[in-house]
Formats: sequence, structure tokens, C-alpha cells
Amino acid sequence: MSELKGKVAVITGSTSGIGLGIAQVLAGKGCHVVFNGFAKEEEVKQLLTETATRYGVKDSFEGADMSKPEQIAQMIAHVEEEYGSVDILVNNAGIQHTALIEDFPVEKWDQILAINLSSAFHSMRAALPGMKKRNFGRIINIASAHGLVASAQKSAYVAAKHGIIGLTKVAALENAKANITCNAICPGWVLTPLVQKQIEDKAKAQGIAVKEAEIQLLSEKEPTQRFSTPEQIGGMVAFLCGDAGSNITGSAYSMDGGWTAQ
Ligand code: NAD
Repeated sequence: MSELKGKVAVITGSTSGIGLGIAQVLAGKGCHVVFNGFAKEEEVKQLLTETATRYGVKDSFEGADMSKPEQIAQMIAHVEEEYGSVDILVNNAGIQHTALIEDFPVEKWDQILAINLSSAFHSMRAALPGMKKRNFGRIINIASAHGLVASAQKSAYVAAKHGIIGLTKVAALENAKANITCNAICPGWVLTPLVQKQIEDKAKAQGIAVKEAEIQLLSEKEPTQRFSTPEQIGGMVAFLCGDAGSNITGSAYSMDGGWTAQ
């Protein structure tokens, strides 16, 4: 029987890409999963039915906008009320915008910092008291290779991702004796809508085919020249939440095809 069976997991930004993969892997391990993110009502309904049927777990959807602190607090309170706990919190919601610093729209900077960094502070702030009371918690922050190194034109994203690794370490230290761990995962390229847009923009800017832009994007950064999959990120989340990961805290784990080894 899976050691995660019956745990309640909240995964922010899980209607798409990496978050969706993480939610599916955790549901496969028997976790009850709470989805969050933007999606059409019909898509959400289908997602909930499919997940519950396939994995035999309870699931639900919280439509909190992760740029809104009060909605984040309400989401955590509502999940605690409905399920009795938040055992696993995966802060995954994130957006991207690329431009030189001098051209970077101020509102985009604020939005990226809010969604990619501050949302994790607000969700942890709301979830930690319950985790402490129950003497159990696993918090995973989805950072990025850009939490460890930089790329041009990604000022807000790189600042937020470096920030979330620092925040991860603080949460780990503050809760080290309460059986609450907090770790970050730093993926390289994962082929999701967030990256697909960057590939398409690159193809357009250079007047090349989308496939060629994809190969270029991988070649520039990842020695393995392969994308990681959302399910592989989910596998690392499950590992960190399980017994083998129980004494790992305050770490930032790379899954980047050698990107940051260079
Ligand atoms: P994605 O665009 O496929 O998914 C993003 C998710 O976040 C969606 O469910 C979206 O609805 C949700 N979201 C966006 N804004 C939100 C808001 N204000 N409130 C609630 N939900 C919101 O992107 P992805 O590639 O799966 O990215 C997920 C995370 O992984 C992000 O934090 C991203 O920075 C990180 N990441 C991605 C890659 C990659 O190569 N794809 C690499 C490293 C890190």
C-alpha cells in the first residue's frame, strides 16, 4: 500500500502542465487531490471525474487566483474544513514574460512576483499552523533552473525563482522540529504551454520552423537535449513526500538535463 495513501494534497496551478502531472502522480499514490488554476468549467468537471474514477480518490477544485492573498488564505481554510487537513502543499502556479529590463512592463513584474513567489508565502502562511498542529507537513515549491542561474530577458522570473529557493530554506529551518519539510524542485525545460509559447515566439522572431526552434532551445541549455516530463517532476514530489524524503529539507533539487552543471 502506498505510504501517501489518504494524504491531502493541494497543488496550485494544476489545471495544466507540471501541476497537472504532479496531481496525477499523487492521486496515483492514493492522495486526495485539490486542483487549482485557470480552466473552463467543463474542463474542470472532466478533470475531477477522470481523476476520481481512475485513482479512486477524493478530489476537488479551488478557483483561487494565486495573485490574491485573501483568496489563497480562503482556499487553504476551505480545504482544511472539507478534508480535515492539508498534508502536502505544492506551490506550482507560475507565469512567464520575457523582455529586457528597460522594456519590462511594471505590471508584469508585479504579477510574476505575486504569482511565482508571494503566492507561496501566502499559502504556507495559511497552511503551516494546521501542519504544526498535526505534526506533519510536506511543502514542495516548484522553482526552476532559473532559481539557480539566470537567462537574459527573464528578470522577474529569475528574481522570483531565486527568491522562492530562499523562502524554501527559511520554511525548512522554522519547521525542522515539527515533521514539516520544505524543499524546492528546479526543473529545466518541460514541454508545457508555458514553454510552447517561448518556442513559438523564438520561431517567429528568427523566422524558423517551430521544430527547429524547439531543438535550438534545448541545445542552448540542456546537455541531454531532452525535455523532462510533468510526470517525472511528479515522481520527485512523491519521493520528497514519502518516507525516503522525510529527512530532506531546505534543499533545491535540479531536474534539468545537466543545465546547471555547466
Ligand atoms: P503552465 O502554463 O502549463 O501551467 C501553469 C498553471 O498555473 C496553470 O494551471 C495556470 O492556470 C496556473 N496559473 C497561472 N496563473 C495563475 C493564477 N494567478 N492563479 C492560479 N493559477 C494560475 O506552466 P508550467 O510549465 O506547467 O509551469 C508550472 C510551474 O513550473 C511554474 O511555476 C513554472 O515557473 C515552473 N517551471 C516550468 C518549467 C517548464 O519548462 N515548463 C521549467 C521550470 C519551472
